[in-house]
Amino acid sequence: MSWCLTERAIDHVVLERGEVANSWRTERWDSLRLLTPNWQSRLPGFGYEGDDPDGYRSMPKTIEFLDRYGRVISAPVEVHTTVTSVGRNDTGYVVSTDQGDWRCRALVLASGACNIARVPALAEAVPPGIDTLSAMDYRNPDQLAHGGVLIVGAAATGTQVAHEIHLSGRPVTMSVGQHIRAPRVYRGRDLEWWMDVAGVHDERYDEIEDVNRARRVPSLQLTGTPERSTLDLNALTAIGVKMVGRMAGIRDGQAQFSGSLLNMCKMSDLKMNRLLNTIDEWAEASGMDGEVDPAHRLPPTEVEASPPLGMDLTSGEIKTVIWATGYRPDYSWLDVPVLDRKGLIRHDGGVVDASPGMYLMGMQFLRRRKSALIDGAGDDARDLGSHLAAYLDGSAEDRD
Ligand SMILES: Cc1cc2nc3c(=O)[nH]c(=O)nc-3n(C[C@H](O)[C@H](O)[C@H](O)COP(=O)(O)OP(=O)(O)OC[C@H]3O[C@@H](n4cnc5c(N)ncnc54)[C@H](O)[C@@H]3O)c2cc1C
Repeated sequence: MSWCLTERAIDHVVLERGEVANSWRTERWDSLRLLTPNWQSRLPGFGYEGDDPDGYRSMPKTIEFLDRYGRVISAPVEVHTTVTSVGRNDTGYVVSTDQGDWRCRALVLASGACNIARVPALAEAVPPGIDTLSAMDYRNPDQLAHGGVLIVGAAATGTQVAHEIHLSGRPVTMSVGQHIRAPRVYRGRDLEWWMDVAGVHDERYDEIEDVNRARRVPSLQLTGTPERSTLDLNALTAIGVKMVGRMAGIRDGQAQFSGSLLNMCKMSDLKMNRLLNTIDEWAEASGMDGEVDPAHRLPPTEVEASPPLGMDLTSGEIKTVIWATGYRPDYSWLDVPVLDRKGLIRHDGGVVDASPGMYLMGMQFLRRRKSALIDGAGDDARDLGSHLAAYLDGSAEDRD
């Protein structure tokens, strides 16, 4: 957004509580690599120039990339400046920070979609003696007690963390709810490449049937490794990770799992195959069929037909529970009434409802399927930057 505002000669400042790329510096586990290939992190006026376009950035490389972008575009970033409250005044907004106040006519909320781990209320019933942590607190297996680990959640975070912890020698059980299976490589090309060229990532929020539902779907089970391997439930089961159903409750130290595991996996296979059908249709229509490997389907997810419906958390077998159950934004500092009952900002494609001059970025399916990816920021910023410029022109005319 800073690049877009500079291009339009709109005077602005970027307030950041940490340093540039703070979330990648402080909120991710050590071994994480982007699940989007290097070529895919395209920012306005800046792309990948190295010799490994199909590789996946480590955290240090991701930080370096964003840091360099900030410098190349001379983004006017005020680092170590935490926004503590935002309110309205007659001409726009008053933004209070621990370094003083700012007044602005327009405001872009780009504070991230993943500030807080979303942990279910039942977490409070985990018996004492078991360590619990969220994926945001997890850094590496060395931080965990020796012994069994129960990981709740099977999207990209849960599967990656389960894999790493299993390799550390700790027995891992995964509680599996809704998830979306995805092959890393399909017909010889990265799945992200297919989603890019086939236009899946460009699907717009105002053109799909149920955007609210689309905004809640979990991340694809993808991981970025040099081997470009697929990390689905079959891969995890094959190395010895145990699958159980969605965690439904904890009573008297007994974890209760839903009996829906098989159904969840069937749904997930179905969703994956729907995506692969879209890709195949695109490949045929665009004459790509001859240039790539033939279409194929993965064998179905294999899980026990009757997995255990309970687990005794007091037996000493499980030493750690990790909540890989998603993330949510933090708006505790926002004193403008723009939140819905779920605490999310009401907006139309990033234009905040009932608060003229306020914009939102970086949310799941904000304007496009790719909106919450690094690669999605550019197009959204161009659209919203243009709306913001028109708003400033309009409000200037009103004042005149
Ligand atoms: C585990 C995980 C893996 C991911 N992997 C990928 C991937 O492989 N590829 C990909 O494209 N995307 C990935 N994402 C999504 C990724 O987070 C986004 O693509 C990208 O970070 C969004 O950038 P952003 O600037 O909108 O939000 P953020 O990166 O969250 O940045 C928000 C910034 O706002 C600052 N901030 C927040 N509150 C305040 C405040 N009150 N005052 C001042 N500053 C504040 C934060 O410090 C932070 O620096 C992943 C996300 C997670 C959680």
